[in-house]
Amino acid sequence: MNNQRLLLISVDAMEDVDVAYARTLPSFARLIDGAARAQIRSIFPTLTYPIHSAQVTGCPPAQSGVFNNVLMQPGIDHPDWFWDYSCLKVPTFLDAAHAEGRSIAVVQWPVTARAPFEVVVPEIGNVEATGGLVETMRAVTSPRGFELFERHRDLIITEPKTNHGPFAAAVGADVLREDQPDVMLIHLVELDSARHLHGPNGPHVNEALDIIDERLGVLLKGLDDSGNADETNIIMVSDHGQLETVQHTNLNILFRDRGFLETDAENNLLSWDVYLHSSGLSGQIFLREGIGEQRRREIEELLEDIVAEPRYRIREILTATEAREVYGLDGPFTWVVESEPGVIVGGALDRRVVVRREDPDFRGYLGNHGHHPTQGDQPVFFATGPAFIPDCDAGRREILDEAPTFAKVLGVSLPTARGRSIDELLIPGLR
Ligand SMILES: [Zn+2]
Repeated sequence: MNNQRLLLISVDAMEDVDVAYARTLPSFARLIDGAARAQIRSIFPTLTYPIHSAQVTGCPPAQSGVFNNVLMQPGIDHPDWFWDYSCLKVPTFLDAAHAEGRSIAVVQWPVTARAPFEVVVPEIGNVEATGGLVETMRAVTSPRGFELFERHRDLIITEPKTNHGPFAAAVGADVLREDQPDVMLIHLVELDSARHLHGPNGPHVNEALDIIDERLGVLLKGLDDSGNADETNIIMVSDHGQLETVQHTNLNILFRDRGFLETDAENNLLSWDVYLHSSGLSGQIFLREGIGEQRRREIEELLEDIVAEPRYRIREILTATEAREVYGLDGPFTWVVESEPGVIVGGALDRRVVVRREDPDFRGYLGNHGHHPTQGDQPVFFATGPAFIPDCDAGRREILDEAPTFAKVLGVSLPTARGRSIDELLIPGLR
């Protein structure tokens, strides 16, 4: 253990191509100019919750247990997300630091509900299902986190779309100023939201970067007020890029058409032998428990037909064993579906099997992710502060290397991590 401080900022869906503009903005410039850096390869599927889990555990979904953003709740329109910290099946670098007596704050970080730390204001939605905003936050925050939630809840924007950005920045700034934790994690999502709504590229990207820069300004003001800025390592990361959505291939409709899944006249799910759980630009196929051999063979044949049919634009369907070996992706599913770039592998029950972008009934996000991590633009890693060598570039590194790096900065060990720390970026005494 040492006395290094760490502020980890995740700018959701920030891509390497955003850096040129971002560094013209004052707060981004402070995080980027002179920073130690790496080009990051993410994990499959490129979904926010599995990746943020990888960033704190150093493990892919096969070990972390977070294999999707949302739980497998067949037939539910808005399934619950992997909110709870107990969803993580391996230790995080936060656990390792906390065990050494370091104080921890998490603000809007995925999979941190009910985490056992000093300041916990987790990212959580679907609050209608859990008793409304106030009761939900009371249940998932730490006592100090709830106090800060009450102080700033007026900043949560609900119309036209929920946006926690101003709330997150204000809470984060107060935590840095008042609580002065040894480690703070904060997650900012407005760039991801803009890319979902309008597509991966366009003028909305720089507009969103302008907004994020304001959030960073609020946050860094809190850090400056604390007097800890010079001794704080500030690391800015992102989780994935986005691709242009070109098509939805809704496999559950096909399963229904072939008699493997049943709905009522209102498209409510009645029963299923096989079910597609979407992971955005990829999918996870579940087989009903206790299904017979004959039925399973019929489903395997159907899956072969799906890959063979060019209209569906499905590149490959891997068995769970193959997905574990190739991608470190495992879960309670039986197969993993990889689509062509930009093809949503959808679970909808009320659409046509194939809906293309140019079709009049296309609806949904224009940009998305969940794709294979080699596709599209890549996530960022910039680190400044006393632990890092200025302007040092480690080249291409795995996102699984981030958590061991954070652990090393704090002088704690994380033996369960599958990555290795990015030592090239660290000052000699820390290596
Ligand atoms: Zn994300």
